Amino acid sequence: MTETLPLIPYPSGAVAMLSGSFSPPSQLSVVADPYFDTSQVLFYVREYLGMEVQEGEQSPNLIIAKAVDAMDEQAYRLEVFDQGCKIEAKSLQGVFYAVQTLRQLFLAYPSAIPCCRIEDKPALRWRAFMLDTARSFCPVGEVKRIIDIIASFKMNVLHLHLSDDQGWRIASDNYPKLGEEESGRYSKLEIRDLVAYAQNRHIMIVPEIDMPGHFTAALASYPALSCTGGPFTIPKGEGIFSDILCAGKDEALSFVKHLIEETASLFPAPYIHLGGDEIPLDRWVDCPDCRKRRKALGLSDEKALLRWFCNEMTSYARSLGKQVILYNDYVDQAYDETIITQVWNPLLEMTKSAHQIIMSDYFHTYLDMDHTLLPLPVVYRYGKQLQTQKYSSLLGAEFMLWTEHIATKEQRDLHLLPRLVAGAESFWTEHEQHDYHRFVNTFAKYGSAYLPSDAHITPKKLWNTFFIVSALARYKRRRRVKRNSRKAGIMLS
Ligand SMILES: [Zn+2]
Repeated sequence: MTETLPLIPYPSGAVAMLSGSFSPPSQLSVVADPYFDTSQVLFYVREYLGMEVQEGEQSPNLIIAKAVDAMDEQAYRLEVFDQGCKIEAKSLQGVFYAVQTLRQLFLAYPSAIPCCRIEDKPALRWRAFMLDTARSFCPVGEVKRIIDIIASFKMNVLHLHLSDDQGWRIASDNYPKLGEEESGRYSKLEIRDLVAYAQNRHIMIVPEIDMPGHFTAALASYPALSCTGGPFTIPKGEGIFSDILCAGKDEALSFVKHLIEETASLFPAPYIHLGGDEIPLDRWVDCPDCRKRRKALGLSDEKALLRWFCNEMTSYARSLGKQVILYNDYVDQAYDETIITQVWNPLLEMTKSAHQIIMSDYFHTYLDMDHTLLPLPVVYRYGKQLQTQKYSSLLGAEFMLWTEHIATKEQRDLHLLPRLVAGAESFWTEHEQHDYHRFVNTFAKYGSAYLPSDAHITPKKLWNTFFIVSALARYKRRRRVKRNSRKAGIMLS
């Protein structure tokens, strides 16, 4: 059989179609190797296959076995035969991904799933989505919905941008005024709830507290932490603002260390993102405290002071068991070598040091951009580009949603869908198996079934819209038509 299974992301390994089909009964009897946490396995089956489940039957129709061969921790093997299905994996995460594949097969073939054997594993280990909750607050229920979406397409990291000039979105015990007057912030209880929800779906939440720039919202509550003393008002709309955290005042440094500690204790991920992007250093030049600090440390200029600040915070975070991620604006060889650099601006010189990198360049991953500027095929190609460039220190990649102009669920969905789904396939699937037309056909037919029923999906006519691409295509088409009609004319005459 040559049927192409309608799976997103498409499997990286071999897909073999076998003869026959499996008709799912109304109740699945499941047998799982005791190596796996049975309650988790049963949760996946109930939650994602929407089926009644029985345990330990004589003739099971879902068998979950521990893989005995050398298999990637995130990999799985799935076989559908006429009496049922068998999943093999090394970890619960692998079982979870197999269930996601099975879920799509159950949805695409509600009465009879064609028998098949699938080998699958991710091409990139870190498949992330960044949600800016600072510019526009995203309620907990909505974040959970986004977790559901990314988990069902096998992404595994949610990077939450929790603070910026325009908003502070996480409650602090030490500094209760943070985010107090904002249009929304997460309580610690809500964060713990979100983390648990994400963990159950194999999503790691990486928190970001952006510093020392993009800090106006914090300075509006605590103006004494700035170089000038304020007062400050929280700005509306986008921009880069000159008032940043003072690097000279001891209380400003202990403020951010307390925040790092509070954040680190809330999120179990071994990573913390400290931003470090777009920092105008003019205030530090004029500030007597910053000048004093620079002199005391023997630093040549404000850039050196920034490097000292980032290294200081990195070693503090490390003492709490966390590895720091920074955007690539300033990171150079003199920055702590444990820092992971997130490359958002591909025009800046790439770090030649030992830093690990996360790729999220704005030409390919900024999903807040209009579909006409960042069309679906460009997003889809990004994973292949990353997989074939052979970076020596690539940790993974992210898609980004900045929200200065995106405030509602509908606006978020229309920016994300289907681009984020295409991106998820381009990160998961080995590039040899990438096929844009297969993806578009599968998404057009089954995308709305695989997504929540209330999802807003950008109409198909907009997916490919790109003025240069479409202008080129039109030009080529016109030339082809001319050439063909000329040929036809010659043949006719
Ligand atoms: Zn200062």
